[in-house]
Formats: sequence, structure tokens, C-alpha cells
Amino acid sequence: MKKNVPLIEVKNLVKHFPVNTGVFTNKQKTIKAVDGVSFGINKGETFGLVGESGCGKSTTGRLILRLLPATSGEVLLNGTNIQKFSNKEFRKLRKDLQIIFQDSSCALDPKMTIEDILSEPLLIHKLVSRYEVSKEVNRLLDMVGLSKLAAKKFPHEFSGGQKQRIGIAKAIATRPKFILCDEPVSALDVSIQSQILNLMEDLQKEYDLTYLFIAHGLNVVKHVSKRVGVMYLGKIVEISDVETIYNDSKHPYTKALISAFPDPDPDAERDRIILKGEVPSPINRPEGCAFHPRCPYAMDICREKEPQLTETYDGHQVACFLSEKVGAKSINEKREAEAV
Ligand code: SF4
Repeated sequence: MKKNVPLIEVKNLVKHFPVNTGVFTNKQKTIKAVDGVSFGINKGETFGLVGESGCGKSTTGRLILRLLPATSGEVLLNGTNIQKFSNKEFRKLRKDLQIIFQDSSCALDPKMTIEDILSEPLLIHKLVSRYEVSKEVNRLLDMVGLSKLAAKKFPHEFSGGQKQRIGIAKAIATRPKFILCDEPVSALDVSIQSQILNLMEDLQKEYDLTYLFIAHGLNVVKHVSKRVGVMYLGKIVEISDVETIYNDSKHPYTKALISAFPDPDPDAERDRIILKGEVPSPINRPEGCAFHPRCPYAMDICREKEPQLTETYDGHQVACFLSEKVGAKSINEKREAEAV
């Protein structure tokens, strides 16, 4: 049987930044911003990537779009390694890979009208003729819930939510296959967030879009993603489908992230897990499990050896010595269940 190839597959992606350690010294250290990240996203799927600031999630997204050069690793689009493409080859692909920014203002030139902003990618990629471009701009504005009167205005004349709609219109203008959504609603009021998320969901169905949805916390990701990857200090520590992450997560860091969000049910009892200390600097990554200085369950082995991401059950992967034991049990349970 032919293997189902993910639309986007990231294999052992690495991004290291060398930094000088002092003014009077040439000694260099390395920031391991992304350190061996692997995951796949199927066509039409939303994959959530979460973690605290500085965990490497946005850098991972930018490596996929080649907005940053990777130190090593592969990014496959429909099974082809696009990291190896020349700049000329990659430019042709650019229309298939788009981005929605956290703050759309940075993607909207303040000196250009919305019509010019949306026309630019359409004309560069020769998707419509000059005669048809206004009609296509109006169609895009309509798709994102804006009047065609918006076309003649400038970005500063819009609210944050409206600018995000224009940013989305710009991202879908080239009819892309994949969109990197880099914290697209975190700068918006809560009342506007759900409108933008609903719009993104509608457009995903309409155009069969594939999203990588990057977010700081798990509350938004829960509503939009099918599967979720949790990052800590440049590595993925847990991946699973969204229900398992929320109801049966195994990594102590994931559990702490989940416990940090208020439960919508006021009568629900939930123990808040308070993590000790700050996220360590990626320049001085702790030995062994990088999470051990903050982990309430740290054991001797955690300070000496680095846990590897291992599958425990049906695609649920965890990098934790505690769940390695749980995982072995789960696989045995599964075998027993299958034998009955
Ligand atoms: Fe905690 Fe050890 Fe698991 Fe790391 S490997 S998360 S320190 S129990």
C-alpha cells in the first residue's frame, strides 16, 4: 500500500546561532534555538506548536518558509526536500507557502493602499491580468468579510482585527498550499479572536489549506488544531492528537502548561502546577533533560541523560523518563487488547 506522504514534513531541523560571550573576548557560544525538531502535517490539517517565549516555535516556522537558513535538517513539501532548492527554484514555490503574522501591520506597507498591497502578489506571481486584478482584490476582501470600499484606504485606517483580516487576504491571495500562522490572534481582543479563528477555519475548508498554528498557550490551539507539538528549549517534548494532549498528556511540562489555563467550568477542580524558576537560557542548556531544574518529578537519571522522543501509544510521542515506563505498559496493554 502507498504510504500517505504529509504535505509538510520537518526532519531533524536544527538552527544554531553563534554568539560572542563578552566584549573583550572572542570566545563564542551557541544558542541552540531549534535542536533536532521533527514532525509532519497532513494536507488540510492544522498542527499546533506551543511553548513559552524563546522555546524555538517561531524560529521553526521561519525555517520551514526559509525566512531563516537552517543549520541542518530537512523540510519536505509533498516528499521533496525544499531546503536543497536554489533561491531561484524556491522563489517559484514562494506562492505556495505563506504566513500570517501576529501583527499584520508589519506585513502591510503603510504607504500603499489595500488594493495595491493585495494586487502585488497577484501580479508578481501572474495569477491574474492587470485588467482582472481589481475584481480579484474585491473578491479577496469579500472572502475575509471586508467591504470593497476598503480597497482605496491605507492600513492605518483599520482596527487591529480588520488589519488581521487584510493580512489573511494577502496570505490567501496566491492560493497557497501551506500557511504559517505565527500567533495570529494573540495581539487581538478576546472578542475579535474568535471571529478571526472562525474566518481561518472557513477559509481552510474552502481552499483545503494546511496550517502550522504557532501559539504561546494551549487555550487557542485547543480549538483549532487536530494535533499538537509542545516545545521546550528548542526541542519537541510531546506530540499527540489534541484530545490526548488535553486529557492524557504525559510530559510534566505539558501538564503544567495545561494547568495554567482557567477551566471554563467554574465547578471543575484542577490542580495548578506551578513550575519552579525561569526558562533556562538556550546558551546554557541544562545537562540531561533540559526541563529537570523545573520539573517536580526529576530523578537522578534526568540530570545525567537526555530523554528521547519515543512513541508510547498510537502516535503519542513523549520525551520523558517517566513516560518511557508508562509507554512500555501502554504498548503491552494495546497488544493484550488486540489479542483478545
Ligand atoms: Fe521531569 Fe525527568 Fe521527565 Fe525531564 S525526564 S520531564 S526531568 S521526569
